[in-house]
Amino acid sequence: MESKSEGICRFCLKKFSGAGMGRHLSACKTRQGKNASELKAGRKKYKIYHIKISGYKYYWLHIEIPGNATLDDLDEFLRGIWLECCGHMSSFTIRGVKYDDERLLDEFSDWDMPSQSMNKRLYSVLKVKDGFSYEYDFGSTTYLEGHVLAVREGNLGKDKIRILARNNPYVFECDHCGKTATNTCLECEEFVCDQCLDSHACGEEMMLDVVNSPRMGVCGYGGPDMIDDWTPK
Ligand SMILES: [Zn+2]
Ligand SMILES: [Zn+2]
Ligand SMILES: [Zn+2]
Ligand SMILES: [Zn+2]
Repeated sequence: MESKSEGICRFCLKKFSGAGMGRHLSACKTRQGKNASELKAGRKKYKIYHIKISGYKYYWLHIEIPGNATLDDLDEFLRGIWLECCGHMSSFTIRGVKYDDERLLDEFSDWDMPSQSMNKRLYSVLKVKDGFSYEYDFGSTTYLEGHVLAVREGNLGKDKIRILARNNPYVFECDHCGKTATNTCLECEEFVCDQCLDSHACGEEMMLDVVNSPRMGVCGYGGPDMIDDWTPK
């Protein structure tokens, strides 16, 4: 892993480390100004959760999501930005309780472990400072961790879920020549640049794009199908 874990605050566009971003976001004056301006014009206030989601410590997202959104909504977002390859099952675990995909509940409803549906609203299952875990795909599983960093009263305007910050893409070196890799090999897990593609022995059909996601290189994952509509200007 070449580059450091860093990302850009969506509001002030300054760069912070992955470890320092949460603290910055809670203090960012530009963000506070935007939050205050969104309450003008008599907009109604509701509970908004600030959640940090991490995958294998290199990948992280800070998001805001209304407290009345459901675990299903969060699942859909995570699939869209980081995970979805071929419609695998997923589940959240919060305080020892599993919240499963509806499809899983239908199929395995008589299993020993009682589990609930993901159609729960965040405010009914998560409190400030709570942590949770999440799994996507019970075969080649991608594990994520979440933490509720803060809950505020506010209004997100048009945003259903707001990305406050995310890790900048990492630069991976080609295992053949050391240049910036654009592909990763499903077979041998090496990184490969465009120039070295032809000479890589595993064949081009084993190549997957390098993507900014904890699911990179797994099960044919080739990047988000959701357009990441946030790019810092
Ligand atoms: Zn900022
Ligand atoms: Zn898959
Ligand atoms: Zn190369
Ligand atoms: Zn290979």
